[in-house]
Amino acid sequence: MHRYALGEASLELCCGDITEADTVAIANAANAMLMGGGGVDGAIHRAAGPELAKALIELKRDLPGGVLETGGAVITPGFLLPAKWVIHCVGPIFEREGDSAAKLLARCYAKALELCRRRELESIAFPSISTGVYGYPVNLAAPVALEAVRRGLGDGAFPRRIRFVLFDDATLEAYRTAADALFR
Ligand code: ADP
Repeated sequence: MHRYALGEASLELCCGDITEADTVAIANAANAMLMGGGGVDGAIHRAAGPELAKALIELKRDLPGGVLETGGAVITPGFLLPAKWVIHCVGPIFEREGDSAAKLLARCYAKALELCRRRELESIAFPSISTGVYGYPVNLAAPVALEAVRRGLGDGAFPRRIRFVLFDDATLEAYRTAADALFR
């Protein structure tokens, strides 16, 4: 585990499976349809159980066209997960968004942190949004994600603990390099 101080909050980077994270909330790299899919989204749905898909179907009724915009985030319970809440973020598809990709990726993290602040959630774990199937190069995504977390924390009291749970060593290394450059 690698730790950094961000004002009053702490940032942790580790390798692992986010479905096992014991933070109050975890973020999901969802898709616009919020219907579950592959990668981390599929793992979260499997671990949370079928109630998660049902909750998302309900929630989609309130979204225009039943679609969550890129850069958006919504919250559901975690059901069978150790985490009490799941914040579903739609990251940018790198090739499709071009120059807007960084702004949209940063917005996912900002929106997730805003939900934590509003609901007074003490801790959240993030996966590396968009760097799997959505094709965002991890060495470009890591500094965007970390800078967005720093900005999104502001001086609020929630969340106090932000953890990135990264699925493989190469991804952890990219985040560690970016965090050392930004925060050390
Ligand atoms: P996206 O569609 O946003 O690119 P993916 O799920 O394809 O989302 O990949 C995002 C990142 O999540 C990748 O680094 C992938 O290796 C990672 N990942 C996949 N499964 C898990 C898991 N169970 N826990 C944490 N990270 C995961």
